[in-house]
Amino acid sequence: MQNDRSWTEINLTNFEHNLKELRNFLSPGIEIMQIVKADAYGHGAFQIAERAVKCGVTFLGVANVDEGMLLRYQGIEIPILILSPSLENEIERIIGSGLTPSVSTVDFAEKLGNYTKSKDIRIKIHINIDTGMGRSGIYAKEAIEIIKKIRNLENLEIEGIFSHYSASENDQKYTQDQLKKFKQILSQLDFSPEYTHISNSSAVITSKDDFSNLVRIGLLSYGVYSDKSLEEKVNLKPVMTFKSRISQIKIADKGESIGYNRTYIASKKIKYAILPVGYADGYDFMLSNKGKVLIKEKICNIVGKVSMDMIAVDVSNLNKIDVNDKVILLGDENSNLRAENLTGLFNGSSYEILCQVGRRAKRYYKDNGKIIDSSPLLRRDFVSTDYSDEKLNFIIETAIEQRLQSKEIANLIYSDVLKRFFAERDKEICYRNNFVHTIEFKETKSAFLKDYFLVNTTLTFNKKLQNDYFYVACAKNENLLEKYFLRKDVEYRWLLDNNFDLETEFFDITSVKINEIELYNDIKISGGCIEIRCYHQKLKELVGKEVNFSISTRTYYPQSSHQLSVYIIEMTQGVNIEFIFNKLLQKVEAVPIFSGRNKFPQIENKKDSISISSQKDEWIFPNSGVVFVY
Ligand SMILES: *Cc1c(COP(=O)(O)O)cnc(C)c1O
Repeated sequence: MQNDRSWTEINLTNFEHNLKELRNFLSPGIEIMQIVKADAYGHGAFQIAERAVKCGVTFLGVANVDEGMLLRYQGIEIPILILSPSLENEIERIIGSGLTPSVSTVDFAEKLGNYTKSKDIRIKIHINIDTGMGRSGIYAKEAIEIIKKIRNLENLEIEGIFSHYSASENDQKYTQDQLKKFKQILSQLDFSPEYTHISNSSAVITSKDDFSNLVRIGLLSYGVYSDKSLEEKVNLKPVMTFKSRISQIKIADKGESIGYNRTYIASKKIKYAILPVGYADGYDFMLSNKGKVLIKEKICNIVGKVSMDMIAVDVSNLNKIDVNDKVILLGDENSNLRAENLTGLFNGSSYEILCQVGRRAKRYYKDNGKIIDSSPLLRRDFVSTDYSDEKLNFIIETAIEQRLQSKEIANLIYSDVLKRFFAERDKEICYRNNFVHTIEFKETKSAFLKDYFLVNTTLTFNKKLQNDYFYVACAKNENLLEKYFLRKDVEYRWLLDNNFDLETEFFDITSVKINEIELYNDIKISGGCIEIRCYHQKLKELVGKEVNFSISTRTYYPQSSHQLSVYIIEMTQGVNIEFIFNKLLQKVEAVPIFSGRNKFPQIENKKDSISISSQKDEWIFPNSGVVFVY
């Protein structure tokens, strides 16, 4: 926070407090669905979901398949209901990620049913009835008939039936009408689903019912009142606080204007502060000349229009203030800054301001006053569609699958890759750069080896050193080599021709260095593998630093193979792979299988070598590679 221009603090202790307060309104046995759509109203879906699960919540609610998938990738396992209607093309991903779709039309139910039938599976769905919200859901008057139809689809199980209130926070009459309609429909069915639910968080307080067994809690759990009348009924604490700091202090004399279009003109000499947030940070434009911020416990008014990246506040009443002083923009316990009161200034929506605030801000998660987690700047809140780019899936998965001959492990690695890209993007990804691999074929001398080429390989790259040792591994078949692909401490792997014995005569390290330090190596031959541990006492002090690896080996390769594959199995930036065949081969072609932004590396044919290379700063995804065909 020290270095942040603006940041949000998410107070998980307050979140827990609010959940507890709301739970007090529920009869025993009623379950809670925590609504975490739109990145948990801007609070961070994963962290909120995780905490909610810890508090005993049994369902999560999201808006769409992408939000649900992201939570699955992040390891959330409890049932997740997709509240909005889904599209046909999302069915495969919904089911693949174990999400529960809501169903608002027979047509979609049938499409779902066809899909599950073709896969010979059965999935749970929740049916959405429109009892007066006038948004998604089947018409109340058609509900009985449609539910019957859907019930006939064998591969769907109606786990839940639900509806949604339009104005449970302030229109009791309409709310009761909706409730009555819902109850009527349910009572006419010849079965009862496991879950019936209609209440959002406001209704938990304003409109109890005696037949639902699940409630969907959103806004109030984030500590924002949906209506003034609820303030005396329940004690809620804001979960999100949006903060920034003063970046400049200025004076405007009487008659001078502040900001675009001169909407504020000083009626006397004032002192004002510039804060480095604007509507691009989610600070609503409608707060121009209206908003309030808190500096040193004092409320200060926004003067002039909110700009894209800046606002100005009147600080005339503050004596001792300075550049860098903290400013609270939203969500403190000071009631002026509560989301509902700030948006009240312009008849806006507190839901909306929560979702948009802090777009450029890092989030800090606090528990009992301590920061326990943070998420990075420029959050990528949703899994966008490029995430499941069919082609990228295909390339990565098949490449791994072919190499490992195991679809299961291919799948595992693939989701691991995605996780690293999208879910843990603030954590450090270890990657290689300046990857230069040379493979040189030479003639063999002995008669015994006449069907083979002698192969000298050298691999150099830069990478952050993880341990004070690493391994080089060699195995005679792919299954044995497989386990070395999964190990993070193995930097080089080689598949040895089956005809050779596992001896260093046929595969050996000729030199292995880190930053010019020649490493020791211990060779272990067992279980069909040669495992070479490379180490040096000097490596201890290099751990955590980026170092230069250089690994050279000598081995043999069957002439009859007619192809040689080189794999890139880690995130790599800048690749150059050269195959030198020294007049031993006639015609060599390189077939690159590159995934990354640029799938077509540069190929250069020379008289007795061929090389492929990417730009220095270009990312190559794991499980890319090249096959040299001769
Ligand atoms: C967003 C949403 C909720 C949560 O509503 P709050 O007013 O935030 O408690 C509940 N149900 C559905 C269907 C929703 O879309």
